[in-house]
Amino acid sequence: MGSAPSSLVTGRGTAASSNLFARASAAIPGGVNSPVRAFTSVGGTPRFIASAAGPWLTDADGNSYVDLICSWGPMILGHAHPAVVEAVRTAAGSGLSFGAPTAAEIELAEAIIGRVGPVEQVRLVNSGTEATMSAIRLARGITGRKVIIKFAGCYHGHVDALLAQAGSGVATLGLPTSPGVTGAQAADTVVVPYNDIEAVRAVFAARGTEVACVITEAAAGNMGAIAPLPGFNAALREVCHAHGALLVVDEVMTGFRVSPSGWFGIDGVAGDLYTFGKVMSGGLPAAAFGGPAEYMAHLAPAGPVYQAGTLSGNPVAVAAGLATLRAADDAVYAALDANAVRLGGLIGAALTAAGVPHRVQYAANMLSVFFTADEVHDYAGAQAAATWRFPAFFHALLDRGVYPPPSAYEAWFVSAALDDEAWQVIEAALPAAARAAAAAVAP
Ligand code: PLP
Repeated sequence: MGSAPSSLVTGRGTAASSNLFARASAAIPGGVNSPVRAFTSVGGTPRFIASAAGPWLTDADGNSYVDLICSWGPMILGHAHPAVVEAVRTAAGSGLSFGAPTAAEIELAEAIIGRVGPVEQVRLVNSGTEATMSAIRLARGITGRKVIIKFAGCYHGHVDALLAQAGSGVATLGLPTSPGVTGAQAADTVVVPYNDIEAVRAVFAARGTEVACVITEAAAGNMGAIAPLPGFNAALREVCHAHGALLVVDEVMTGFRVSPSGWFGIDGVAGDLYTFGKVMSGGLPAAAFGGPAEYMAHLAPAGPVYQAGTLSGNPVAVAAGLATLRAADDAVYAALDANAVRLGGLIGAALTAAGVPHRVQYAANMLSVFFTADEVHDYAGAQAAATWRFPAFFHALLDRGVYPPPSAYEAWFVSAALDDEAWQVIEAALPAAARAAAAAVAP
């Protein structure tokens, strides 16, 4: 799978990345086009990536890294997978965007529908944010209600109503919410602790007739990897339906990564509306939301809930997504699962040897390291961990050619392309990183 760089190089310094970051900081707010790419919580200079192949990233200075971010999830096959690149080339050669429907859009929709039982129709959009924003609008349009319930630490994109106590970059930067979100937009969002079904029941008991939907990550990955407790997703469905509300299952991160049919393939709990992104677009900008035909019929032009997009269903992005889903066979999913277990085992062994209290937690083949001895079930638990150990751990890995997410609140993503050379680099880097975490000093 993929190919290692011809000569594995680290230790070339970061002068080129530093120069690019200085230039970027003048032209782009914070020097990055998405906050999670900045090194705000770990310090240092973000690496500017020049190319990627298989499990490797190569930066502007010529340093190579084993990629454990995988573009925040999509690259399950590794980078520049030949089948995906070929599909993109072919599609691009036939035109970049038409603003009119194509046959390939149907194929991608059918590929998603064929994998996730409760989904009978999907609408393609350009980002996970658009998908959740549209699903929320649809849920409100269907129910005629306004309140949405979300979970602290879950991230569903930068939708105004969903930024309250959000995970991912919002958690990394320690923001309770975002200026620019009006009181009215936030007032209809009720935030409850993840994995706390009684808290959900309490909101329904007080405001049940106002609740349009509960939105949940199918398994949380944006406060670190935190799987739903047994029965949690099923109980959400039950309580939603008891009160005439919809369950919106956000599979943007888990979809087509944790199994061929996402988290639905793991717990089998049928949501009412689904959101997808990342893997289904193979690394290009595309995403989707879907559900039963009865609900999706509320969308324009079939129904009155408006939703649209100039580039939605873009032929090049659709080609990348289809090629990725087609190449993701049983062997790929077996490799993803095995690689996650192997990585988690190596991390755990290194931290144990260095005497660092920790938990490696999994949500299927997504994983995270929490610097705490306690199992983490929610955002408060993630925040209570010794996150101050993370910057030292991160930089020791980066210096040794391993690139994990630059935040204690993010999931680590493996690809199926991790090969012997990549594992050697990971195995060589972890003991020193664990010692660096052990030597870190609490603020
Ligand atoms: N939902 C979840 C669960 C996500 O993890 C993300 C992004 O990380 C989003 C939605 C937003 O997707 P995008 O960044 O494509 O807007």
